[in-house]
Amino acid sequence: MPSARPVRDALLVELERRQAELVTLCAHLIRIPSENPPGNTARLAAFIARYLGRRGIAVRTHVPRRGRPNLVATLGRGRPRLVLAGHLDVFPAGGGWTIPPFSGRVQAGRLYGRGAGDMKAGVAAALFVTSLIKERGVRLGGALTLALASDEETGGEWGTEWLLREVDAVRGDACLIGESSGLGVIGIGEKGILWLRVRCRGRPGHAAYAQGESATTKALRALEVISRLSGRAVRAPRDVARLLVKQRPAVETLWGPGTARLAGTITVNIGRIDGGTQINLIPSSCEAEVDCRLPPGLGVRQLERQIRRGLAGSTGRETDLEVIRSCDPYVTSPHERLVRLLRSNAGEMLGIDPLPVVRLGMTDGRLFRRAGIPTAVYGPRVTGMGGSDESIEVRDLVDTARVHLGTTLDFLGEG
Ligand SMILES: [Zn+2]
Repeated sequence: MPSARPVRDALLVELERRQAELVTLCAHLIRIPSENPPGNTARLAAFIARYLGRRGIAVRTHVPRRGRPNLVATLGRGRPRLVLAGHLDVFPAGGGWTIPPFSGRVQAGRLYGRGAGDMKAGVAAALFVTSLIKERGVRLGGALTLALASDEETGGEWGTEWLLREVDAVRGDACLIGESSGLGVIGIGEKGILWLRVRCRGRPGHAAYAQGESATTKALRALEVISRLSGRAVRAPRDVARLLVKQRPAVETLWGPGTARLAGTITVNIGRIDGGTQINLIPSSCEAEVDCRLPPGLGVRQLERQIRRGLAGSTGRETDLEVIRSCDPYVTSPHERLVRLLRSNAGEMLGIDPLPVVRLGMTDGRLFRRAGIPTAVYGPRVTGMGGSDESIEVRDLVDTARVHLGTTLDFLGEG
């Protein structure tokens, strides 16, 4: 447990006192567009590298893909090693905004802009926390690594996945991500994904003479087989099953009506289907893309096998199935030290005991967990994520940073 309460408390007071700086920093990050696609984050990364450099923090910029730099900075050394991770890219702004998406405007206690919650607030918090620790000259009892990746919104292959493979400092003993979660919950797990491409071939012909085989009809039959899995409940390992039951009331409020059961069931979405060329011709080819989400207790290989078996039984060898992307579901234990410290810090600072939950959507957290690193997602509540007028409460931003700072200092202790 913390051996350095006086330093820790002084830093927390300082953060509170300098919160306007944190808000300004976050607004500044929002004002540098980093929409993905196209995914060019170079300007934003350069700003952050300068911000850290001015505070005497050495940053390494890794650019495995042009225009998509990843930033890594480490304070302290040795063990334990905590990683504060975030991503620089944001969803495209799209239309329908009443407040310009790259204004970073504060209005009635809320901070607006594309990426406000997902996740420039989390990045701002991580930068501010790291800077405070550096400025105050705190000697950490371990290593604190800041890992900021590009390429999260489109899969993470050149972002976190690359960093985990290539940069030793990023493979910490635990990872904290300030993605939006709402301060009442801590994301400790995520459903898995299996993205599939279904292709069927047919024999072309004229509709009037019905001499042919419709590829689209075959594809529909295949999609019907896959869709039947939707809503199927999966038995999770006992400790996870307990979590899933416990989180139901909270997530129903947080994520919307009907979402409570989803963490424990398979979902299937036929996101795209494209077959044939015109109304009176029998289609010779059809292609569809399907998004399946897997609850804890079901692996992607297992689900893929089930699907292939189902297809073999109904459409024979006429369906070609390709895996576009996949990741198993991963859950960090709620008893992990990082999770316990987040809860105690939220209790101390905000007077709440956040509930550990399995999230429905993906964050880069899955990649850390897949690498065996206990990972927690804790950040502000966001509205309009991926849509228009994305915003967070300014107070949530400050509280996120406070809890992250306290947790970081508790986790690493003093050297
Ligand atoms: Zn995100």
